[in-house]
Amino acid sequence: MLKGGHLTLVYALNSSTNPAIRFRIMKTLALSLVISTGIGLAGVAVAAERAAAAFPAGAIVDLTHAYDTDTVYWPTASGFEMTSDFKGMTDGGWYYEANTIVTAEHGGTHLDAPIHFAANRHHADEIPLERLIGPGVLIDVSRQALSDRDYRVSVADFEAWESNHGRLPDGGIVLLRTGFGQFWPDRKRYMGTDDRGPDAVRDLHFPGLHADAARWLVENRRIHAIGLDTPSIDYGQSADFQSHRILFAENIPAFENVAHLDRLPETGFHVIALPMKIRGGSGGPLRIVAIVP
Ligand SMILES: [Zn+2]
Repeated sequence: MLKGGHLTLVYALNSSTNPAIRFRIMKTLALSLVISTGIGLAGVAVAAERAAAAFPAGAIVDLTHAYDTDTVYWPTASGFEMTSDFKGMTDGGWYYEANTIVTAEHGGTHLDAPIHFAANRHHADEIPLERLIGPGVLIDVSRQALSDRDYRVSVADFEAWESNHGRLPDGGIVLLRTGFGQFWPDRKRYMGTDDRGPDAVRDLHFPGLHADAARWLVENRRIHAIGLDTPSIDYGQSADFQSHRILFAENIPAFENVAHLDRLPETGFHVIALPMKIRGGSGGPLRIVAIVP
């Protein structure tokens, strides 16, 4: 809560190298802070009002699938495991519940951190929050994708969206709706196979982002993050994961297995996507919500 006068003093303090001058500025700054705390309480009320006004108004829509034994994971990963440590009345007479969970980073509604496919890029804990919170846009390709499981979202799809809504916003979080979210958690319908293990990977059929479109996004637009309602930003038949590599080289993270994209308008909403903060993680469980006016 530094006011303008304080900022000027702080600036003067930082730009002065003369110790005597620095001491004088520090004294003035300290005194002015003491005086201003006298009117601090009124300031707090005003600040709270401003914060309430600044927070986007609207309905909060949960875009997250719950974790349970049905949660969809990649065919090579084991599923979500939760075991009970304790459940019931304690000897002390109060109720208590606690569990232990085990999960691969990349299952359910989750984050792909850029390091997942690009060396020296952000790990899960290193992604700036500014990339994970921002204005959202929805590109609805469900008509195309539901008639072709191997559909890849194209540059033309983005251009069509822009011809209706204007240029993709700088700092935007782009969500691709393929319509496949409606099949969750039926693995066969959602990802093309319910087999497990490395051999099942070649039977994956679900839509994703075309590499040309990923390249167009990083070269021509300034989006902060991208997400979709399938298990991977590359389509199921991808063998070289080009869209992952192109986006992640630019530190643009991806959100996968995003839920309920049918509840969003094409523009005008905000997204808050907060993954578990795993130090050195290549991704992790994600709670993602939208605020829809
Ligand atoms: Zn992933």
